Parts: sequence; C-alpha cells; structure tokens
Amino acid sequence: MKWEDKVRRVVPYVPGEQPIGERLIKLNTNECPYPPSPRVMEAVKSMSESELRLYPDPEVGQLRQVLADYYGVKKEQVFVGVGSDDVLANAFLTFFHSDKPILFPDITYSFYDVWAELFHIPYERIPLDENFHLCAGDYQKENGGIIFPNPNAPTGVAEELSVIREILKSNRESVVIVDEAYVDFGGKSALSLLEEYDNLLVVQTFSKSRAMAGARIGFAIGNEKLIGYLNDVKFSFNSYTMSRPAIAMGVACVEDDAYFKEIVDKVVKTRERTKKELKSLGFSFPDSRSNFIFARHERISAKELFEACRKEQIYVRYFAKERIDNYLRISIGTDEEMDILLNFLRNYTRKGC
Ligand SMILES: *Cc1c(COP(=O)(O)O)cnc(C)c1O
Repeated sequence: MKWEDKVRRVVPYVPGEQPIGERLIKLNTNECPYPPSPRVMEAVKSMSESELRLYPDPEVGQLRQVLADYYGVKKEQVFVGVGSDDVLANAFLTFFHSDKPILFPDITYSFYDVWAELFHIPYERIPLDENFHLCAGDYQKENGGIIFPNPNAPTGVAEELSVIREILKSNRESVVIVDEAYVDFGGKSALSLLEEYDNLLVVQTFSKSRAMAGARIGFAIGNEKLIGYLNDVKFSFNSYTMSRPAIAMGVACVEDDAYFKEIVDKVVKTRERTKKELKSLGFSFPDSRSNFIFARHERISAKELFEACRKEQIYVRYFAKERIDNYLRISIGTDEEMDILLNFLRNYTRKGC
C-alpha cells in the first residue's frame, strides 16, 4: 500500500499488564497499595458543574504554586503534565534537539528509547557496572543530552548525589534530566543541585509515592528559563493537558503531607521486611531504595517463577531483555499481599530441592 510509505511507524512502549479481578495480587506496575489521601476524594466530590463545563486553567497555576511552595522554588520553575510520561515526552521534544546522541543507561526505564525513536533523536546506551551502578566517568563525552532515573528502574538502585554532581559538572553544555519517579522511597533528590546547575531538570510523579497513578499527574522542576522552553513546546502541542479534576486532586494531595509521609513510611517498612524474607528464600537483589525489589533466585529461573506466580493470580514484572532476563521486579504491596507472595515462593522454591 502506497500510503504506508508516508506513515510514521514506531514500536510502542509496552506497559505492564492491568489485569482485572477480585482475588488477584498486583505487584507488577509499582502502584501504591494504599488509597490516596481522603482529601483527594473530597476535592473531586466538591467540584461544581461549571468546573467541568469550562476549560481548565492552561497555566495550571494553582497546582504549580502548591508544588513550588512544597519544594521551596518559584512557580515559574515548575512544569506539570499528564503523568511524568507526558512531562518526559515534552522534555525529550524540547531539550534533546541535537545531532549528537543523548546518553542513558543500558538498563533503565524502557520508555527512553521509544521517545528517542519517535522524535528521531540519536541515542547511546551507556552500560551500568556489574552492580548496576552508573559510572559518572562514562558520561564525559560529547552528547545531545543525558537522562537517567534515580533510583533507577527496574533495578531500584540509588546513586549518591556526588555521582549526579560529577555528571553535571562535566556536562554544562547539555540538559541533564534526572527522573525521580521513586525518590520518595529513599533516594536523594537532585533538587538541591538546582541552584548550582541551570541545565538540570528534575522530574517526579504522583503515580507511585502519592498513590495517584490513575489521576495522571507528573511534574518537573528546573531553572525558570528551562521551564519556559518546556512550556513553549507544551503550548505548541496541547494547551489543556490537565483536567480540572486532576488539578483539584493534585492540590489536595500535596496539602495532606502527613498522609503522604505515612503511606511512604509503610511501603518502606514492608520493603525492608520483604528484603529479609526474600534473602532467606535464596533470592538476591541490588539494594532497593524504591517501591519494588529486583530479585533473582539462586536456582530457579525468573521466567519460571514469573509464570508460576501468574497461575496463582500473583502478577510481578518480568523483562525478557539482555542482562536482566533472570530477574523479577516485584512491587511492594501491603503486608498481607507480600505474605501471600512470600508463602507461595516459600512452597515453590522448596519443591525443587
Ligand atoms: C512509573 C515511571 C514513570 C512514569 O510514571 P507516570 O505514571 O507517567 O507519572 C516515569 N519514569 C519512571 C522511571 C517510572 O518508573
């Protein structure tokens, strides 16, 4: 067919399954196992009809202001979008506009190469070391930009700020994006480096630590000028990205800081307990500072365990990819959910002895 020659054809990102059912245990897409703050639900319920009839504020001023106050920056330094995927896609389009390749780790969020392909951005994957850590020295080469998550996905490994600083120091001439989707679970935020580096963009999300994956809210913080360029691209694409309900929910969420800290704390406690139990069952994993554990078993292949869990309606994530095809990424659920998983794994790993 002739028209097909003129079509933009891409290989899309494949998100984790969203199975539906009563009894299933969903530990495959790093959602929060707890509900969002009750204030978030109240905010939606108290909306008036006209709030749906009229367009939302294209500047999303209210949400940007509460985020600015919370993180101690100016409103002009905050950009918001429909989940951090939307923020990141806009950032790729805005900041990665060079003939030189952008750099990101070989094991990382698998959306990065999809956006690079979509926007025709050349890219190079920089291998992590054998312990899944970044080597700052490998990022001292000409590039069109740099992006990596910290803590990394799907490994859960966190880098010290000294590593990030070293990368920033040798890359003053391109934009460096730190994707902090999991930072609230124990990473160190690069927000503290913003004053020093005007080419740094920090991206975060409400989907994991704020229990609002369904609301689709993400944001970026950076230098005013950087955020200005990002807004110009966004307004050239879609002025009204965030719905009024999403904005209202986002504001209510940030205002309930005590609840936020409480649920993050619970997830972290469950994670630390799960680490101990997994170890006793013959699993090993890089130390996780996120809301998931990236684990392999000493005898049984990840693929076999993935399929066995799935039969029991326990969903975890498996990536059939080089270097990581013997690992399972297990999201941290409630204590009860983790107990069901651990009991199943205890029985299953015993069987083969
Ligand atoms: C989950 C995730 C995102 C995207 O989350 P949104 O739901 O789009 O906010 C971005 N980066 C990483 C590394 C993630 O794990």
